[in-house]
Amino acid sequence: MPSYDFQCRECGERFDVRCAWQDKAQVRCPKCGGEELQEIFSGFTFLTAGGGGGGGCAPSSSGFS
Ligand SMILES: [Zn+2]
Repeated sequence: MPSYDFQCRECGERFDVRCAWQDKAQVRCPKCGGEELQEIFSGFTFLTAGGGGGGGCAPSSSGFS
């Protein structure tokens, strides 16, 4: 079962919860019982655009005119 990191928006408590994905909506802050939780994605890397493009038929301007 995966665990999720949450941060409470009310008291700032940070904690992790192990629950099913569909149960995340029922998670409450263990400290203040707040429902306003922000999920923290740690170790999440965005794929940057670009890389591995082109090549092949670049026009070469070796001048014979
Ligand atoms: Zn809280």
